[in-house]
Amino acid sequence: PHRPYIVGNWKMNGTRAMLAEARAIDRAAGRYPDVQVAIAPPFTLIGALREAVSAMGVGGQDCHVNAKGAHTGDVSAQMLVDTGADFVIVGHSERRKDHGEGDDLIKAKAEAALAAGLGIIVCVGETLEERDGGKAEAVVSAQVTASMPDADAAADAVASGKVAVAYEPVWAIGTGRVAEVADVVAMHAQIRQQLLALYGEIGAKVRILYGGSVNAGNARDLLAAEGVGGALVGGASLTAEAFLPIVAAAD
Ligand code: 13P
Repeated sequence: PHRPYIVGNWKMNGTRAMLAEARAIDRAAGRYPDVQVAIAPPFTLIGALREAVSAMGVGGQDCHVNAKGAHTGDVSAQMLVDTGADFVIVGHSERRKDHGEGDDLIKAKAEAALAAGLGIIVCVGETLEERDGGKAEAVVSAQVTASMPDADAAADAVASGKVAVAYEPVWAIGTGRVAEVADVVAMHAQIRQQLLALYGEIGAKVRILYGGSVNAGNARDLLAAEGVGGALVGGASLTAEAFLPIVAAAD
């Protein structure tokens, strides 16, 4: 039912030399109109990427909760809009870990982003210890409950398809160890139930992406799985050669 959403998260990778790669991805994205393609480069490249591409979306990887002020080193959602971003990723596990971000802060960032007019991708996912301890469902459920924006703040964006959740098991990120399709299906179904409870029937419009070691070899099975609305791709989004087969697999 959803147009699949394939998003490259470049993390802390990319200088202007990589704009050629983005252009190649964008040209190919134009050939897959049934797939929504986007890249979230580092802040430093958002403006240049926006100028370089036309068919795909451009996003940030984080934003501050405030619009402006004395927050050295931070970037607001309004600034992302100003530089040409259409969406922002919030709550990535690397920010939860490297910067101690918790659910309350992530929710505030998500609401700030929506207020600025950005689409959002809110990331959730359990650690290996949590999965091995049988706690994956409970951990992800708690993250969804506490880090998704309130219905008041999000209803319009949810209804217009601007809200996505990315289920990224921490142990699958950058490890080459992809989650079992059956586990992804089960977790996405659980997240969907929560979204319906939180937003009502428009909760069906939230795309739920899988992230964690997605590549050309596993994308087709993952993207064909029940309830998988797309992919959030790290390492395999850094070159057109690696990323385009994933886009093609979504078509
Ligand atoms: P990898 O695709 O490199 O595992 O990264 C996934 C991710 O964290 C995307 O946000």
